[in-house]
Amino acid sequence: MKRSLKRHAELESLFGADFLPISKKALAKPPVPTPQKARPEIVSANAGGPRPPAGAPAYPWEQDWPADFRSFRSEVLDCRRCGLCSSRTQVVFGTGPLRTPLMFVGEAPGQDEDLKGEPFVGRAGQLLTNTLKKFGVERSQVFIGNILKCRPPGNRTPAPEEMAACMPWLERQIAAIQPRLICGLGNIAVQTLLVTKIGITKLRGRITQAQGVPFFPTFHPAYILRNMNDLPLFEADIRSALQAAGLLPAP
Ligand code: URA
Repeated sequence: MKRSLKRHAELESLFGADFLPISKKALAKPPVPTPQKARPEIVSANAGGPRPPAGAPAYPWEQDWPADFRSFRSEVLDCRRCGLCSSRTQVVFGTGPLRTPLMFVGEAPGQDEDLKGEPFVGRAGQLLTNTLKKFGVERSQVFIGNILKCRPPGNRTPAPEEMAACMPWLERQIAAIQPRLICGLGNIAVQTLLVTKIGITKLRGRITQAQGVPFFPTFHPAYILRNMNDLPLFEADIRSALQAAGLLPAP
């Protein structure tokens, strides 16, 4: 199989596809009926059950969140520090246990995240979730957050004043979690946390420091969806991040 085709097949299989497009000639033959495989749903860390009553923990790991972290979350959920508060469906605070060695930081919620209130649950999120799974790690073992807690309309690039308004929330999350490693996903997260204009292609794959914590930059999974040839680099980076955080044995 050609390399690019192989990559495409690998990527599709990450999302549960069990077929590839076929030639017109093959299409001329009567199709053999096959059982329909349901499209994978948006991955939810809370999948499979109704939401608990207001005030009760929404996710298993929240049971371990101390009261001050829960009240911090309530404060963030009411945030009106920038104009995004008038277009958002809800604030996407972030998910995961407080005691985790690894924190992922992306750019901002997209449409799926805005609707669901969870980070990285759309197609890019599924790629992240499935890459973690590939190495035996569940997304519920790590904290996942973003630079911005609210969706910019139409998924436009976050404005500098929005990032400046939102950064204190992320700083407080990092201070509370004190992860062994932060993995920055994509240019916006990495450039903001490292306070640099250097591009992700130059920065990725090497540990530096951000917010006083070891920091590991890699591609944004949405970029990988558009550039399948970089999937092996992304997977290798995620493996390195898991190793550096101690969630996988060191090489
Ligand atoms: N992209 C991000 O940067 N964050 C999300 O939560 C989802 C998509």
